[in-house]
Amino acid sequence: MRLDKLLANMGFGTRKEVKQLLKQKAVTVDGEVVKDASMHVNPEEQYVSVYGERVQYTEFIYLMMNKPPGVISATEDMVDKTVIDLLDPLAQHFKPFPVGRLDKDTEGLLLITNDGQLAHNLLSPKKHVPKTYYAKINGIVTEDDIEAFKQGVELDDGYFTKPGYLKILQSGLQSEIELTISEGKFHQVKRMFEARNKKVTYLKRLSMGTLTLDEQLELGDYRELTSEELGALK
Ligand code: URA
Repeated sequence: MRLDKLLANMGFGTRKEVKQLLKQKAVTVDGEVVKDASMHVNPEEQYVSVYGERVQYTEFIYLMMNKPPGVISATEDMVDKTVIDLLDPLAQHFKPFPVGRLDKDTEGLLLITNDGQLAHNLLSPKKHVPKTYYAKINGIVTEDDIEAFKQGVELDDGYFTKPGYLKILQSGLQSEIELTISEGKFHQVKRMFEARNKKVTYLKRLSMGTLTLDEQLELGDYRELTSEELGALK
């Protein structure tokens, strides 16, 4: 890979800005100052540094975001802000995308990566990756709802859901629940409650497979997955 491309990919600015760094003799390859932007380097075998700091090249990026309401979980949108717009330019260099969708008004765990294989594995209907949501519901959630979700409910388009596991945290005119499902139909949680004549008024994803939302993350914040989190997901 060309040296200027490597450094631009790793967030050291545009190709033009990278040229400036080279001119300033800030870049070394295997200990030698390099000023030639077109030099070919192998970042896995050669030691590339900028101002004495090693540039660790990685192909993939794995981020956990606490998605805020009001942004779209897509890479671009004509009208609204996307979750990718919330990332810093260095992270955006990796051309990441969200793994699956959360509705515009849904909050919580969103994995953002450029690893297509991992995304495919997590989203494949064959893998039945469980996703757990916390929701506030208009209406009294009962044992009958638990049983109905366990059996599967018929959505408005006639689709019968796979078993869902409902836990009632608080039952009242405003109920609070956790629901675990292993599929991802459009608006699935909201439509499952509609099938029981109840309305979701707040929805937050808590987990996806082994990955659990880091409650330290404020809405709109994100961090890289730890190696333990990544290892467990793969
Ligand atoms: N189910 C929904 O209804 N909305 C989401 O965003 C995720 C699951």
